[in-house]
Amino acid sequence: MVDNYGRSITYLRLSVTELCNLRCRYCMPEDGVCKKRHEDMLTQEEMLSAIRAAASLGVTKLRITGGEPLVKPNIVELCREAAATEGIREVCLTTNGTLLPKLAAPLKEAGVRRLNISLDTLDDGKYRHITRLGELRQALDGIEAALEAGFEKIKLNAVLIGGFNDDEIPALAELTRRWPVDLRFIELMPMYDSGDFGPEAFLPCTAVTERLPELRPVEQDGGVARLYRLPGAQGRVGLISPVSAHFCAECNRLRLTADGKLKPCLHSSEEISLKGLSEEGMREKMREAILSKPKWHGQLNYYERSHAARNMNQIGG
Ligand code: SAM
Ligand code: SF4
Repeated sequence: MVDNYGRSITYLRLSVTELCNLRCRYCMPEDGVCKKRHEDMLTQEEMLSAIRAAASLGVTKLRITGGEPLVKPNIVELCREAAATEGIREVCLTTNGTLLPKLAAPLKEAGVRRLNISLDTLDDGKYRHITRLGELRQALDGIEAALEAGFEKIKLNAVLIGGFNDDEIPALAELTRRWPVDLRFIELMPMYDSGDFGPEAFLPCTAVTERLPELRPVEQDGGVARLYRLPGAQGRVGLISPVSAHFCAECNRLRLTADGKLKPCLHSSEEISLKGLSEEGMREKMREAILSKPKWHGQLNYYERSHAARNMNQIGG
């Protein structure tokens, strides 16, 4: 379906849980999420109805996200059923990677084609600091397990944070030489409560090209990242700049939160509830959401924060 600005909406991001086994400082508060009532969250059946409704409106790509999707019981079955939905051509999943040693092969077998794995640093102490709970080794083991499982594509996502990991830009980009993966730097987004980062933390992605003049632009793939390659690298380096150079004109996304709220835009406070609706009812609400997609998300920076009124773990990124 096409929205009021001529954008074809073909991509649904479904957050399957707000819960997470980590507590990344830019994403969620230290004391975790205030657990919502179980009956307020979408059931697995409702998630599948929503996927079918979206597919009937022209959505072909589904990303499963969270919170951490791999802490959800039955995640493999959910992915399997999603992948078998008529009209859905591609199921992808975003994860912090720590549970992939057990789940990479079952997810691949269930029909997940692509994985995005978050990795902000290669330093044990810094990983522990930024995730508050995590061990770098577990994430690296997860990446290795994903590579062994043979996914069509693996992308590593690093949130670029001035004063935290800008000194690791070369080391992170180097991973595209070590593994056949893309490494994407994502600008830190100023969410409702995304830690106590100061203005210096909000670095534009041009910091990457300045630090790595040997990066060469390569053919773009129609995604949100501007793509480059290091000489001789197996994978590409991508720059995702929602803050310094928004890509709203090409936005093809609809988001659905684990508590059943459709979000026409990541950074808007508008939410449309699907909880308790039939598949037909969901389809109608999705039409409404697509037609209310704003032209752009407005200015974002340290001083002008997202209007989303949720933390990222409650949206899915
Ligand atoms: N738990 C999974 C993970 O970490 O990949 C999936 C959910 S997480 C909310 C999805 C993506 O959002 C991750 O790549 C994470 O780094 C990113 N993210 C979270 N908070 C962010 C923020 N304030 N700015 C930019 N990216 C953010
Ligand atoms: Fe959890 Fe992902 Fe948020 Fe980190 S970014 S706290 S892993 S949901």
